[in-house]
Amino acid sequence: MPRIIAVEEHIATDAFLDTAHRLDAVPGDQAETDFMRTAERQGPIRTALTDTDARIAAMDAAGQAMAVLSINPPGVQPYPAADAVPLARTVNDSLAGLVRAHPDRFGALGTVAPQDPGSAATEIQRIMGPLGLHGIMINSHTGGHYLDEPRFAPLLESAEAHRAAISLHPRFPSVLGPYDAYGMQGAIWGYQAEAGLHAMRLILSGALDRHPDLTIVLGHLGEGIPYWLRRIDNRHAYARHALAAAGTPRLRLTPSEYFRRNFVLTTSGINDPAVLGLGLTAVCADRVMFAIDTPYEDTDDAIAFLDHAPLTDTQRAAISHATAERVFHLPRSDR
Ligand code: MN
Repeated sequence: MPRIIAVEEHIATDAFLDTAHRLDAVPGDQAETDFMRTAERQGPIRTALTDTDARIAAMDAAGQAMAVLSINPPGVQPYPAADAVPLARTVNDSLAGLVRAHPDRFGALGTVAPQDPGSAATEIQRIMGPLGLHGIMINSHTGGHYLDEPRFAPLLESAEAHRAAISLHPRFPSVLGPYDAYGMQGAIWGYQAEAGLHAMRLILSGALDRHPDLTIVLGHLGEGIPYWLRRIDNRHAYARHALAAAGTPRLRLTPSEYFRRNFVLTTSGINDPAVLGLGLTAVCADRVMFAIDTPYEDTDDAIAFLDHAPLTDTQRAAISHATAERVFHLPRSDR
């Protein structure tokens, strides 16, 4: 097996959890914070999130060279800006400490509070500059708002200028009503519906014409979009005059061209060679990265999938580490 880097690996610190669990979420986010706090209080998950030595031991046992860490979702986004902005800085200081202590084992994606786009823009500069982190993670909507909206332009400008890839991680959908049955708010369906919606808004809004050098990372092999891509192009072409008449921006490229240019996919949670094939058709191996989604998915299953997937050696090297090294500016190794 080539060198393995996994890029959606969640952590927390006791200090972060103690602070976050004392804050009141904004009203629409209460159900999700209750759900996540229950998970974060469970002994095994809490330990997996907070115990760095145990994480490195598990990586060694699995033959995993590096983990690109991120704060456990939905991070700071459920909280009022006055709480979320300083909490994001504290999280990023902790992530930077972990990377400095273990530079050959950990990369990290910083967190920002989109609630205050100006502060988020400044924090991205700190994340990619003095803190030496490798990109940012945003947990989809913030208070029901999406990154294509004009208020977030400073955040997107800063990410683009500082070459911070934005990992667009799922969270509970912003409209919970129809998902509030059968557990559908979470990873079984709501997460991919929400993250796929967010990605489609970035594509169809013209945000990627305004920010052509942005890199957006989608987990779960593209949150369903590779399956729909030909139909999305077809329906976009069919509807574009009506869309333009209704005030929707005219796009310079087709939806699939933005997908191929601006998006990078990860394998998190999808150990299915057929879906990997769809992802490779939608983008290509130098835009697909391996991810596990610890502590929520099984490391051995994910690595066995990478080991057995029908790939050329070049594709397997790209997916297992080379794409991640490029997208997240990680230190390269000859191992
Ligand atoms: Mn995740």
